[in-house]
Amino acid sequence: MSRSFRLSLPAANPEKIRFPNRCVCCGAPRQADSTLVVSRLVMRKQRQEPVTLHYAVPHCDRCYRGTKSVFMAGLLPFLTGFILLGGAAFVVVTFYAVDMGLDLNNVPGSGNSLVVGGVAGLAVGLVSAFLFEGVARLLLLPFFGQALWQSPMLMAQFIQDADYVAGLRGKLDPEAKHLLLTFNNNDMAAEFAELNGATAVPDP
Ligand SMILES: [Zn+2]
Repeated sequence: MSRSFRLSLPAANPEKIRFPNRCVCCGAPRQADSTLVVSRLVMRKQRQEPVTLHYAVPHCDRCYRGTKSVFMAGLLPFLTGFILLGGAAFVVVTFYAVDMGLDLNNVPGSGNSLVVGGVAGLAVGLVSAFLFEGVARLLLLPFFGQALWQSPMLMAQFIQDADYVAGLRGKLDPEAKHLLLTFNNNDMAAEFAELNGATAVPDP
């Protein structure tokens, strides 16, 4: 069970928020700070402006290292899956399309078979990237523990506009007037509530 807080800005700016002096993920003594970067493109006067906030989040050594490795632990298998299987699909489908005679009526310079191969490669690549990342997660679970398991999948991170460090997730609303902070650890959420006089909100 996670707990979320909806904090209004600028009252919730990085220098005004107080985190407990313990690891927000597991409650162990604070040994390092991870940086939670929350950003969002906001429309202001008909222009898109990026709003970016950096929060120093207390972590124990293990969760700090977990946070750092999580990104790579997701990215590497993701890329491997994409390049290996996507590349293979590209080659196979392109040759197959040439074999089928797809290029016979080509205008010189355009390659129908390459396009077909490219689309197939991209589709297969994305699916395998997902699978590889999922499998890597299972295999790496004993080494990274919670930090990796609870972080969103890489693709979801690109789409969602939310950022994550072990035990904590941050998200800005579309106007960047509120910050949504979600704690995975209930005890730490309770301490945070006390320190900042905030009340938890139902998970959106
Ligand atoms: Zn920790």
